[in-house]
Amino acid sequence: TIIKAQKGPSKDIVKIVHVPSVAVGSDGIRVMMESALTARDRVGVQDFVLLENHTSEVAFIENLRKRFKENLIYTYIGSVLVSMNPYKDLEIYTKQHMDRYRGVNFYEVSPHIYAVADNAYRSMRTERRDQCILISGESGAGKTEASKKVLQYYAITCPASEHVQTVKDRLLQSNPVLEAFGNAKTLRNDNSSRFGKYMDIQFDFKGAPVGGHIINYLLEKSRVVHQSHGERNFHIFYQLIEGGEDDLLRRLGLEKNAQQYQYLVKGNCPKVSSINDRNDWKIVRKALSVIGFTDDEVEELLNIIASVLHLGNVQYGGEDSGSAYITTETQIKYLARLLGVDGTVLKEALTHKKIIAKGEELMSPLNQEQAASARDALSKAIYGRTFTWLVNKINGSLAFKDDSFNSKNASVIGLLDIYGFEVFQNNSFEQFCINYCNEKLQQLFIGLCLKSEQEEYEAEGITWEPVQYFNNKIICDLVEEKFKGIISILDEECLRPGDASDITFLEKLENTVGGHAHFLTHKLADGKTRKVMGREEFRLIHYAGEVNYNVNGHCLLALLTTGFSHIVTAWLDLCSCLFSLAATQFKYSLAKLMEILMSKEPSYVRCIKPNDAKQAGRFDEVLIRHQVKYLGLMENLRVRRAGFAYRRRYETFLQRYKSLCPDTWPNWDGRLVDGVSTLVKHLGYKPEEYKLGRTKIFIRFPKTLFATEDALEV
Ligand code: ATP
Ligand code: MG
Repeated sequence: TIIKAQKGPSKDIVKIVHVPSVAVGSDGIRVMMESALTARDRVGVQDFVLLENHTSEVAFIENLRKRFKENLIYTYIGSVLVSMNPYKDLEIYTKQHMDRYRGVNFYEVSPHIYAVADNAYRSMRTERRDQCILISGESGAGKTEASKKVLQYYAITCPASEHVQTVKDRLLQSNPVLEAFGNAKTLRNDNSSRFGKYMDIQFDFKGAPVGGHIINYLLEKSRVVHQSHGERNFHIFYQLIEGGEDDLLRRLGLEKNAQQYQYLVKGNCPKVSSINDRNDWKIVRKALSVIGFTDDEVEELLNIIASVLHLGNVQYGGEDSGSAYITTETQIKYLARLLGVDGTVLKEALTHKKIIAKGEELMSPLNQEQAASARDALSKAIYGRTFTWLVNKINGSLAFKDDSFNSKNASVIGLLDIYGFEVFQNNSFEQFCINYCNEKLQQLFIGLCLKSEQEEYEAEGITWEPVQYFNNKIICDLVEEKFKGIISILDEECLRPGDASDITFLEKLENTVGGHAHFLTHKLADGKTRKVMGREEFRLIHYAGEVNYNVNGHCLLALLTTGFSHIVTAWLDLCSCLFSLAATQFKYSLAKLMEILMSKEPSYVRCIKPNDAKQAGRFDEVLIRHQVKYLGLMENLRVRRAGFAYRRRYETFLQRYKSLCPDTWPNWDGRLVDGVSTLVKHLGYKPEEYKLGRTKIFIRFPKTLFATEDALEV
């Protein structure tokens, strides 16, 4: 009989509780399971695996909706965490919450980012295996916030010594600095990360964080010189102008007015209501000190930031001959001083290009348009270079410096906060790189998830039906294969002297990969034209959907480091990357990232943005359905349901549930496997619900386990 309804501390559902008894028979369990499920009806299930109809996208979205309405932003797919951005502060990140998740198993507490963090930490400690937490989702979905929550969890809950406290502070303070220089207000997110980030947190044998290391990917440098309407440049520019002390601004030759700077007016959006630039300046300034930047280094850094603003204000006039000349002397004066270069050399660099004719170097004048592009390319290069320098500097500060400790012996938890799959009206080279990155991550996911499942079943002697899934290797190959992949073809076109252009690139693509099942252009096999596609586009059929990429600028962007770098090299040491093409560079850095991730045990956090208005409580179904698709969540669920959702070692299982059966209570003297067998038979588990392996019990559906859990709390 049902006697009372209580809000379980460990579950986010209202639970219907039965008359207490030590051992509940199978009927009791069934009744309870049903009652609990009725309650779950209202607030949804905390694991999608529990959905009656797990192949139904409608049911999936409905579950998300129910939970979102109740502020239950986290839901599992097995061990994968799905997170909805609430767009409001929830009281779920307190120290008490952190404590609730320490050392506790997934199924005992409601889904939370802390559970993922804690689980990874415990696996690292007990199995001594490096971990990584992969956070994905589209812009504004909450990736960066999630990664910060994980970092905070470790900073607060892990053991600390005096030295460790410094490391924790530095780890935490690296965020405001990187965000100031690498984040910007976009239409989709007021604090959008415009770079990908992988961060290792290193732990010593006591489980205390002792160091860290950051790798950054593909900073969106074009933002330095141009912003779309309603968007801003990187935060640091506004912070400096709004918050910078008067004498500092005087030294830098800057005015306290963002409107004065060409690079800050393109988006017509100098102020953002959710951002306090002046306050953020103080936070960043302090963070730089905590990380260990000296005043001189900060000054040097700001000199460069100011130089970029001055560069943006460099204007050109045109001679009769068409050659460009500089009309803004003041800017040159400041630039020469801030960068420590000779004004005349700088002027020549900004108006000429170096050409090699018959083995001789000559300076050939640029026209106005070319000179303006050269100026912008220089600004981007300087900013990009500064960002890399900043990351290196932070890494120096996070590196563990005690001789008695070898960082090679450290255990590591890696955090990946990287752009999700992107589809816009107009998709360019940047989206191409981002989506390629997502293909690689999906492949890793498939490989690791299915492989580890398979291995475990084999090790335990469990037979199971391998699940059919779409392997996206075919798309990765299409992009990256040597000689005949899209990136190779792009490189080839960029390096080919003569008439190479975006259009010849497209033609070459058609000739080489035209017949590929995942590649399309406007040309149909019978010579006719596919009307829905432009002539300057190619379409890739990604695992997550179809995307048309415009080839305009593909060659130019891929050439960025080669095209104008003669100017840059005049006074920046950029020779090393002179001839490495952007796409190829990205391909190598991704390959390296995959290697890093492969060596670790992964956890996944999939973030979803509920609406485009950045508003709390609004559930935009169309938008959400898209993301469920792009994130491959339905496929994820299918794979998860095909196998066994939960597994427990016999001793753990018996220890926890032995009180539910008179034969196993208070102790079981026989073989563990027999004890577990007796216990589950008593609980009424059906044969298809579980399997007994060599050391573990495998339970197919979480609801079986939930019912057993429910029985415990009686
Ligand atoms: P991008 O790809 O553009 O960097 P992102 O996925 O990193 O996007 P975030 O910057 O983490 O997105 O989140 C966007 C905004 O959403 C945050 O600034 C914050 O206002 C809100 N937000 C995200 N997660 C949470 C959360 N758990 N609780 C409250 N607000 C959140
Ligand atoms: Mg972000």
